[in-house]
Amino acid sequence: LYNQVQDLKGNIRVYCRVRPFLPGQSNLSTVGHIDDGSITILTPPKYGKEGHKSFTFNKVFGPFATQEEVFSDTQPLIRSVLDGYNVCIFAYGQTGAGKTYTMSGPKVLTEQSFGVNYRALNDLFHISKERKDTFCYEISVQMIEIYNEQVRDLLASDDIRNSSQTGFAVPDANSVPVTSTTEVIELMDIGQKNRAVSATSMNDRSSRSHSCLTIHVQGRELASGVVVRGCMHLVDLAGSERVNKSEVKGDRLKEAQHINKSLAALGDVISALAQKSSHIPYRNSKLTQLLQDSLGGQAKTLMFVHISPEVDAVSETLSTLKFAERVAMV
Ligand code: ADP
Ligand code: MG
Repeated sequence: LYNQVQDLKGNIRVYCRVRPFLPGQSNLSTVGHIDDGSITILTPPKYGKEGHKSFTFNKVFGPFATQEEVFSDTQPLIRSVLDGYNVCIFAYGQTGAGKTYTMSGPKVLTEQSFGVNYRALNDLFHISKERKDTFCYEISVQMIEIYNEQVRDLLASDDIRNSSQTGFAVPDANSVPVTSTTEVIELMDIGQKNRAVSATSMNDRSSRSHSCLTIHVQGRELASGVVVRGCMHLVDLAGSERVNKSEVKGDRLKEAQHINKSLAALGDVISALAQKSSHIPYRNSKLTQLLQDSLGGQAKTLMFVHISPEVDAVSETLSTLKFAERVAMV
């Protein structure tokens, strides 16, 4: 049933989320009007004399949407993983617009503020327990980072016992069996720390790399012995802000070029899929190469595009929404 419902809506969905103002920010907003599926941005004169631009998505979450509300629209997708579907969920947007908040939550976590990844795993464990008389599920996770088109395994650590090499999405990354959300939270902490270790010479590398939590689910129907496999990739993308070439050089410019290229490649793949094009350009970036089996075909894709409400951010906001509109084709 979940899949029937999802199929009616298509396999690619784009949700927009607007971050609230942060404490201490002036409350001058570029966001004019929000309804369930559209958003209007108020634009300064240099963007044309209308003074506003509207965009349509599958869903728009305003600044007061809770983590729970955001997740409830994602839930059916997650359940389909247990039925053998592959799912990709991306968080896109400029640095500071709320990608990590949506995927993981704020730095100090409470039950209410848990992001999509904790809630997704919680659901997976919960449903697999509900089905325990008919199915036996095994769940394992991988965590990788893509930085300058290089993949790093964030769970390649001596601290992690029980590791196996059975991953099929990212063949060389550790795939760690898990049985509870608590275990996953511990693993994510290790992953975050591994990410930080290499960040010594750079401030906030996290905004300049893609991080991907992959959850593999294998279910065996007890009566028939039939096995179904599904996987879910939860991807916190690098910040989409464009850097001014005249202002940065060297490593910083190289980073920026890798990010631009890979985000553009992701956009190209998703829009080619949305248009049912015969050629899907997976080969143009590490990210799309790695996720190839989970993008297209029967797989389901959800992109959360994040925008900041501040007037200063209007140019990035418009380019984020244009990117999103291109991939959405709604
Ligand atoms: P990004 O990952 O896109 O760089 P973050 O998720 O780190 O952005 O968000 C930037 C700041 O805004 C953080 O302090 C975060 O806790 C806060 N924030 C983001 N989205 C929300 C939200 N929906 N509600 C409350 N605070 C948010
Ligand atoms: Mg972040």
